[in-house]
Amino acid sequence: MKRPVLAANWKMNNGPTAAKAFMDTFLAGYSPRSDRTVIIFPSAVALTTVANSSANRKDVLTGVQNIHWAEKGAFTGEISATMAKDAGAEVVLVGHSERRHVFGETDAQCAKKCCAASRAGLTFMLCVGETIQQREAGETERVVTHQLREGVSQTQNLISADFILAYEPVWAIGTGLTASAGDASAIHTVLRSELRQMIGTRADEIPILYGGSVSPSNAAGLLAAPEVDGLLVGGASVEPSSWLAIAQT
Ligand code: PEP
Repeated sequence: MKRPVLAANWKMNNGPTAAKAFMDTFLAGYSPRSDRTVIIFPSAVALTTVANSSANRKDVLTGVQNIHWAEKGAFTGEISATMAKDAGAEVVLVGHSERRHVFGETDAQCAKKCCAASRAGLTFMLCVGETIQQREAGETERVVTHQLREGVSQTQNLISADFILAYEPVWAIGTGLTASAGDASAIHTVLRSELRQMIGTRADEIPILYGGSVSPSNAAGLLAAPEVDGLLVGGASVEPSSWLAIAQT
């Protein structure tokens, strides 16, 4: 029986005022549920707002969209895992495709971020996914398994309580194009088997989420697919009514 993880990545939307209004509306409509976990990834400036709004809700976690791997220091504009935790984060998103492709984040940096999150006692959600060119060249499996292996290469003791994997094909993010449930399932199966090679049967407890143009109309089909343990949602999570529909799928 799956216990789905439904995650909202607001990207660069919803400052503290909008975040408070969103959480008031969302939580008023979303009754506590023990059969799934919701994670909201607001902008860093709205972390505390979201964490405070969901403080009484064990089923709703707060995540940070990005961290620096260092504990502290001369890194203007960056925040560390411990600072994010202090502001209310429980989960860290690492290697989102916009971080990799817009800001040039590398696998080596992702590995340091996963390690920093884990050291700080935060769960990390590592994103992997192929570009359209890699897909058309038949390289999807090689690309995503490589990103997985590299991303966790510095993290000891991978366990389900600390680690979530998200398959997000780059060509599907923010484009309106979605992997079919069958395609998502096939790649998740590859990732699961790679995880099993790495950590044995503990791999079966690691949630593998799909992300890429998820909407209220396609969420149920994707969520029902074998090996799809949840959804990571960008555009359709920014506004409370569509997010509520997806979270209640
Ligand atoms: C995302 O930001 O992780 C994402 C999947 O975006 P979208 O749902 O807009 O494709």
